[in-house]
Amino acid sequence: MIVAVASGKGGTGKTTVSVNLARVLGSEVRLLDCDVEEPNAHLFLNGSMIKEETITIPIPQVDESLCDGCAECGKFCQYHAIVTFGTAPLVFPEMCHGCGGCTMVCPQKAIREIDKRIGVVETLQAGNITLIQGRLDVGSAMAPPLIRAVKACLKNGLPAILDAPPGTSCPVIATIRETDFVLLVTEPTPFGLHDLKIAADMVRELGIPFGVVVNRVGIGDDRVHVYCKEKNISVILEIPDDRRIAEAYSRGELIVESLPEYRGLFLSLIEKTINLHNVQVG
Ligand code: SF4
Ligand code: SF4
Repeated sequence: MIVAVASGKGGTGKTTVSVNLARVLGSEVRLLDCDVEEPNAHLFLNGSMIKEETITIPIPQVDESLCDGCAECGKFCQYHAIVTFGTAPLVFPEMCHGCGGCTMVCPQKAIREIDKRIGVVETLQAGNITLIQGRLDVGSAMAPPLIRAVKACLKNGLPAILDAPPGTSCPVIATIRETDFVLLVTEPTPFGLHDLKIAADMVRELGIPFGVVVNRVGIGDDRVHVYCKEKNISVILEIPDDRRIAEAYSRGELIVESLPEYRGLFLSLIEKTINLHNVQVG
């Protein structure tokens, strides 16, 4: 089963849920840190690096001696990464998503592709957890292709947990697409509720079964719970607002190791996730 952990906004405890869930699973599991602009799951795991792979995307290079300025490439590119003014086109590599479309549509075969580095995929081993994290190069804006490279490391049949970037934009979609279940982590505050609504709409639109984890229960109000009840969304875990959790987090420690009384909570999350997935897929 592949479970994505996402949240409408940053700082809700998404990584806390991901790493503790992976650890408490006990058996071999892949943890994919898809927050490629700021991967931080490794801070809690003390893993040893076993592999590093450079990731590139193919970007167009135009042979001006073959180009007749027909502009077909510019018409095709929805990212405006290649533009023509009746002459050989200009390419803006930082905007190119490496889709290969302009090369395909060029009638003169004037475009060839060259590799442009966007980041690395690192693999670390930490006990039962194989952590695979993407690390986007500074200045690169191409998170989705790097996330797809991280997800290419999923292994058939092995359980996997995907720590998504915050928000509801393209990198999040790239992360949660084709997963079996999404855990939406939120806080019981007006901001948490606002972003949960957007995230829930996004996951519904993609047709992926999901449930909600409410972190820091005890702060804020009950509007997140009321909303979930109204919309028939299951709240499958509540993590209390416990100062010791925040202290463990600030020391880079796992809750299930420094506060073993919380192991049961995360073990129950595994069971409830599987049950809810089975109910929602019928
Ligand atoms: S490869 Fe795709 S994104 Fe890049 S310039 Fe060509 S059409 Fe645009
Ligand atoms: S499609 Fe090919 S021939 Fe036409 S402008 Fe682009 S590079 Fe030149």
